[in-house]
Amino acid sequence: MPTDPVLVVHGGAWAIPDDMVDGHLHGVRNAIAAGWRVLESGGAALDAVEESVVIMEDDEIFDAGRGSFLNRDGKVQLDALIMDGATLRAGGVGCVERLRNPVRAARKILSESSHVYFVGAGAEQFAVEHGSELCRNEDLVIAREVERLREYQQKAAESPAKDGNDLFAPTISHDTVGAVALDRTGNIAAATSTGGTLSKAPGRLGDSSLIGCGCYADNLSAAVSTTGWGEPIMKLVLAKWTADRVAAGNLPEWAAQEAMNYLQQRLHGHGGIIVLNAQGQFGISHNTPRMAWAFKTIKKEEAGVERSAP
Ligand code: ASP
Repeated sequence: MPTDPVLVVHGGAWAIPDDMVDGHLHGVRNAIAAGWRVLESGGAALDAVEESVVIMEDDEIFDAGRGSFLNRDGKVQLDALIMDGATLRAGGVGCVERLRNPVRAARKILSESSHVYFVGAGAEQFAVEHGSELCRNEDLVIAREVERLREYQQKAAESPAKDGNDLFAPTISHDTVGAVALDRTGNIAAATSTGGTLSKAPGRLGDSSLIGCGCYADNLSAAVSTTGWGEPIMKLVLAKWTADRVAAGNLPEWAAQEAMNYLQQRLHGHGGIIVLNAQGQFGISHNTPRMAWAFKTIKKEEAGVERSAP
């Protein structure tokens, strides 16, 4: 029996300032529109999450694709993962510097490689061999981010943090993007894409592109995408942790909230999460002041920055 499709996206969890709210809402709504076009015409959840994430990678407001945070050396380094809940096939790229849409390369890996994960130059080579064009790293860098890095590095030099954790305060932007979808055949999928954290060390990989950390999908449990301070999320393998709670019979809404409690209580981490099961139930939660999110079902479409449940 065909299922009614569902699509949920996020565009990062942090203290999004008032003057940036509209830009974020615009971005997540566009992402919904792109993914929904796929789902309503009977397309696969995997294609829907890819299209939604591409739209947000192309939108400079988010920390993904062009307009991402710069690393310590002033370069953009991108990570992305996409996963298919029907087959558990996955494709991930890490630390790529010359791809406008890392999620497209991740999708090629999922579909056309026997491997799951490529990093750096090897990932870019794989992408070229499978039809992607390389850009220059400078093409991904925008003036806003050059200024943000300069200001941050100046502040850090004036008053160095004792443990470096100020880098991850919720007021510092976490604009990673992600999507989870359920298609008419009852399959779910997830994708996450990021430029990582501001002034990260070159070669630092975050949670976003690691299976079970920033992204996970299994028809038997849930499709999950996370955002936030990547190191604690990784240590808790948070996306898989959450999917396991859903597999144990809990509602995605409850599991999303519990994941944020766990992140906060266990490691003082912060972030946001979207969770969807193959029955179309979903949850949206964050322990930051705001998170950009949007969802669409057959009956309803909504977007916001301050809601923690569907
Ligand atoms: N989780 C991402 C990372 O640590 C950052 C983010 O979500 O904004 O790379």
